[in-house]
Amino acid sequence: MDLPGPDCWLNPLVRVGRSAIDGEGLVATAPIARGEVLSRLGGRLVTDAELRDLLTEAARTGTCVDTLSLHTDQNLVLPAGAPQHAGNHGCDPNTWWVDPCLVVARRDIIAGEELTLDYATITDDPEFAVECSCGSASCRGRVTGADWRLPHLQAAYGPHWVPVLTERIAVPEP
Ligand SMILES: [Zn+2]
Repeated sequence: MDLPGPDCWLNPLVRVGRSAIDGEGLVATAPIARGEVLSRLGGRLVTDAELRDLLTEAARTGTCVDTLSLHTDQNLVLPAGAPQHAGNHGCDPNTWWVDPCLVVARRDIIAGEELTLDYATITDDPEFAVECSCGSASCRGRVTGADWRLPHLQAAYGPHWVPVLTERIAVPEP
């Protein structure tokens, strides 16, 4: 794969705004067609051990680390202040991955609609877990780093996971 660049890019039709889900979110300012590129992530690559240190330090200082799993023992850490930080999880998201660092519209999006991404498609961290009240009919209530094992999610998302999870789904563990 191409290595991610140092910075994130956000489609100019998307801005950070008030979220119906939680605090701030990413909101479409105009209609966006299915398949349109919304976001390209960049940052720096760290190992799992380096990421654990960053998360420990962030917990100590009350800051936040935006990260996703790319490959085994390889994680992307977004630059501080990236607008993608505001992106919220949704259990029936309107965006998904088409490439390790590229997010596109999963369906047509109307102006004013909030963009969501299923966090389960982002991380292979078995300790990751957040409560969810996204309001979708298929809300799981709790999102975890093990949700990629759920057959109905594998069927719904096809190849639209971060690479490490796409690989795991394609080659089940013995
Ligand atoms: Zn939900």
